[in-house]
Amino acid sequence: MGKATNITWHETSITKSDRRIQNGHGSCTLWFTGLSGSGKSTIANAVSHELYRMGINEYVLDGDNIRHGLNKDLGFSEDDRTENIRRIGEVAKLFVDSGKIVTTAFISPFRSDRDGVRTLFEAGEFIEVYVSCPLEECERRDPKQLYEKARRGEIKDFTGIDSPYEAPEQPEITIQSYKVSVAEAVEQVLNYLRGQNII
Ligand code: ADP
Repeated sequence: MGKATNITWHETSITKSDRRIQNGHGSCTLWFTGLSGSGKSTIANAVSHELYRMGINEYVLDGDNIRHGLNKDLGFSEDDRTENIRRIGEVAKLFVDSGKIVTTAFISPFRSDRDGVRTLFEAGEFIEVYVSCPLEECERRDPKQLYEKARRGEIKDFTGIDSPYEAPEQPEITIQSYKVSVAEAVEQVLNYLRGQNII
């Protein structure tokens, strides 16, 4: 249970629906999940660029930035990873309330954590984007040399090496980043958003 018991939610007079009408588009979370190096950050940022170019209100919540700030007190134990994802989910929810399309790029390896975040949102607002890429390919790319360090034992509890990754069972979107280009992945996401009348 949380500690704050005497807090009531302040109803603002401008609603999420008002903001969406003013923006001329819907708001949602595009929750990218996948192994380190699968392409979450690259694709999320490319989607964000394209949305921005189209005049859509968007924002990217990126793992490293959040861990340097809001979540700098958290490590990589199972409990800390769960708390990391819970906080990001709550922040994403605020962005959706503000009328934006927010993309998040976190490994978020545990299914129960992602499902927990999903429950914060109304139907259709949480769009799970599974960036599917074999471990061998992620390790070959190793953009931040993290796999190399994990293999040398310099990083403990590294997802895919000595910590599990639980793939989504029913993601709204699956991107096979070892088969499609970044541009094709972006188009796949935009097509989904168009199909849902979010953009
Ligand atoms: P993550 O955020 O999942 O850890 P990054 O986006 O940081 O992954 O790194 C993915 C790396 O893979 C980048 O260096 C990117 O250029 C490369 N890459 C190669 N092909 C693709 C693709 N089709 N989609 C996404 N990234 C790709």
